[in-house]
Amino acid sequence: MPETVLAGLSNIRTTEEMIVAFRDEEHCRRLLESMVWPDGRICPACGYKRSIAIAGRDTGKRRARPGLYQCSSGDCRFQFTVTTHTPLHSTKLPLRVWLKAMWLMLQSDKGLSSVRLAEALGVSQPTAWRMGHALRLMVAREHMLDGTVEVDHFHLGGRPRKHSDDPPPGRGRKGQANTEKTPVMAMVQRPNDVTPGTPAGDARAAVVTGLSLRAAERAVETQIEPHARLMSDEAKAFTAIGESFASHETVKHSSREYVRDTVHVNSVEGFNSRVRRTIAGVFHHISSQHADLYFHEIGFRWSQRVITGSAVRKTRHGREITRTLWSRVPPALQLLSVFRAATGRQMRRSPDGGIIIRSAVAVFG
Ligand SMILES: [Zn+2]
Repeated sequence: MPETVLAGLSNIRTTEEMIVAFRDEEHCRRLLESMVWPDGRICPACGYKRSIAIAGRDTGKRRARPGLYQCSSGDCRFQFTVTTHTPLHSTKLPLRVWLKAMWLMLQSDKGLSSVRLAEALGVSQPTAWRMGHALRLMVAREHMLDGTVEVDHFHLGGRPRKHSDDPPPGRGRKGQANTEKTPVMAMVQRPNDVTPGTPAGDARAAVVTGLSLRAAERAVETQIEPHARLMSDEAKAFTAIGESFASHETVKHSSREYVRDTVHVNSVEGFNSRVRRTIAGVFHHISSQHADLYFHEIGFRWSQRVITGSAVRKTRHGREITRTLWSRVPPALQLLSVFRAATGRQMRRSPDGGIIIRSAVAVFG
């Protein structure tokens, strides 16, 4: 990646600076190319590392536009642009609108509703909604969590219904059968250490049907390395799940134990409450069909923080606890992580205005 690109992105701090930086379409294309292909152009069809620019040439149908390339592999000859086989390909929006949208969404603390994003950009709400999902698709992370991983489960509350003839929403697990509350597994990898500059670990969440042991196991097995050190509360499901990991330690919330040396689930509980607050405050209601996409976004936001230090705080009971202090990676620099995993993730607009995810797997990066 050219140094100037990085320097340019580091200089974007305010909305005004962002608008100036993302005003020229040609500049935005070059910027996006250096983020999607940090190590040089790669053919999205076959992975070949040599290609030629064919701008201005007659391609048969019309004259090739700037940013159109052709794979140099004799077997391939695929023609592509920086958005080919990425979620950005799903609209015909200018790249400068895409970059502004991504920055605005990352700049906001918990995310932007499609209504607010549409207002800010002057696009339709369905378009803004699809742009939001494009971000969520690109920030999905596929590698397994490792090291010390805290797991927990919680219920995502459906909002109380407005119709008076509906049954009242139940609370917690007791009322599970007649509510819209969705059981969710949350997993957070702890940072390797607490020295300043260390990035937060990744955080994941997944809907588990009825919190059955099988569903919970599946969520955990596909996301956490077996040699990880697992931490949870003493819930029964976790006892069984923990057996397939190198080690499993629990805190006994029932006997008011929350921290025992390094054994605690504070990180994952922090993540839980962030998920709940984000869904309740920004996205209101999410379909379980798209829940994973929202979880990708919330998990990505969680990971885009670095440790800046620590502070000692006294609890209400006079006990001293050390709290880790964090700062957020600037939104413009988060774009580097967003677009590095763009190729291969593809979505299309469905006939009814929704989205169809054709592939959620990144090909490079
Ligand atoms: Zn190719």
